[in-house]
Amino acid sequence: MKRYVNYINGEWVASESGEWVQNTNPANGEVLGEVTSSTEKDVDRAVQAAKMAQKKWALVPAPERADILYTVANLLKERKEELAQVLTTEMGKVIAEARGEVQEAIDMAFYMAGEGRRLFGETVPSELRDKFAMSVRVPVGVAGLITPWNFPIAIASWKSLPALVAGNAVVWKPATETPFLAAEFVKIYEEAGLPKGLLNLVYGSGSVVGNAIVEHPGIDLVSFTGSNEVGAKINGRAGELLKRTSLEMGGKNAVTVLEDADLDLAADGIVWSAFGTTGQRCTACSRVIVQETVKEALEQKVLEKMNNLKLGDGLDESVDVGPVINRSALEKIHEYVKIGQEEGAKMLAGGEIATGNGLDKGNYYQPTLFTDVRADMRIAQEEIFGPVVSFIPVKDLDEAIEVNNSVKFGLSSSIFTADVNKVFRAMRDFDTGIVYVNAGTTGAEIHLPFGGTKGTGNGHRDSGVASLDVFTEWRSLYVDYSGKIQRAQIDNY
Ligand code: NDP
Repeated sequence: MKRYVNYINGEWVASESGEWVQNTNPANGEVLGEVTSSTEKDVDRAVQAAKMAQKKWALVPAPERADILYTVANLLKERKEELAQVLTTEMGKVIAEARGEVQEAIDMAFYMAGEGRRLFGETVPSELRDKFAMSVRVPVGVAGLITPWNFPIAIASWKSLPALVAGNAVVWKPATETPFLAAEFVKIYEEAGLPKGLLNLVYGSGSVVGNAIVEHPGIDLVSFTGSNEVGAKINGRAGELLKRTSLEMGGKNAVTVLEDADLDLAADGIVWSAFGTTGQRCTACSRVIVQETVKEALEQKVLEKMNNLKLGDGLDESVDVGPVINRSALEKIHEYVKIGQEEGAKMLAGGEIATGNGLDKGNYYQPTLFTDVRADMRIAQEEIFGPVVSFIPVKDLDEAIEVNNSVKFGLSSSIFTADVNKVFRAMRDFDTGIVYVNAGTTGAEIHLPFGGTKGTGNGHRDSGVASLDVFTEWRSLYVDYSGKIQRAQIDNY
């Protein structure tokens, strides 16, 4: 049986706890191996190593730090297929999507390596003579990264790469559900020559290891992606400790379809966004806001496409929809389906745990479509995180905007229409961090900011240059070469 251990200060070491947690394949329940279960002591060791290493790393010129990231990028590229196979095996998403996710990490590695020669600050004219004024980015220190299972390498890359290129050290706790890919990613950093202590991997539960990362005085910032419940807890505690936090949490993303839209295109976009990654993307489309004049036509097109979706093990290239992550997720999804029925929504497809055809050993749920859903129903308000989509009929764009914005989340939204005026209204009025036009709610590219408004986050963004704002402090520098003490705002007025 494969055994995975922590990576602390450049050494692969098991926790002294002596406890191990099994990793299983959600497609068939097969035990893949075991992972060491760490304690606060392991976190402390990792933080001490990170602190020591970070002091030296901050002095390494950023282009030199970036050279290591270029090697990381090339190694990721070389091992893309191998990593994708690990991803699908422990997380379940279909192999084509797993390859896409690894590609995201590759893109992010090249992009952030490029930042080693940018990391732009500002130079501005001073208001005083013989004085120079500029701002530079400086590292924050030791970053604690807490990541989820649904994008186990993409999200880890969005956080670790900008952290490292900017001169920070990292203590990373991956999700318990996806430990193997985390180790493969760390091995790549190791092979690329990242000095020891700069990236530490600590396996364990959120309540022990995650919590210890938040509490540890040597951790200067916490970057988290996951549920609102945990994110709010982290934010509260880190706030008391005056630590910087970057939180990326849930979504209740909607595709709006107006009557002038290309309905075939819209149906494709809905099916891809709602059932890709088995509905477990934070940007998954879980609401379709449809103008009532085209509701039935759109439903028929989506249902036809849903009928053709093949469920199964994501390693099978012909499969469209893989399993959900675990049994409790399966039960939660089914619970929401029952809630939807009790609330009076009309179910047009799915609604059951999928069995037969070899699915019984895995965690499969039938792609499910509800219609005549009201915007205030729980299935239209709460994050289900599974292959369930709700059609909400509306009169016009004004009502669509109101419904789109009626949820507590603000991650992603989209509109299908041929009317450019309506496009621009949606781009202005949809209150989400990401808006797509004539595309589904998913498909973020790494060189733009990723994140959301309202309950989705706390104002920070992953990926893009914006991610550097999480991992750097601004330092303003004034150099007076006048040879006298000049008083700003006083001597010049
Ligand atoms: P969690 O928020 O529970 O987990 C995310 C990460 O936080 C994991 O690494 C987890 O560790 C860790 N964690 C858990 N509890 C704590 C804690 N008290 N202190 C510090 N870290 C902690 O999300 P889940 O993975 O359980 O998914 C639950 C729901 O969250 C989903 O159904 C979905 O609604 C939402 N979600 C949203 C995501 C997004 O991308 N926006 C991604 C994943 C989930 P461990 O794995 O050990 O529990």
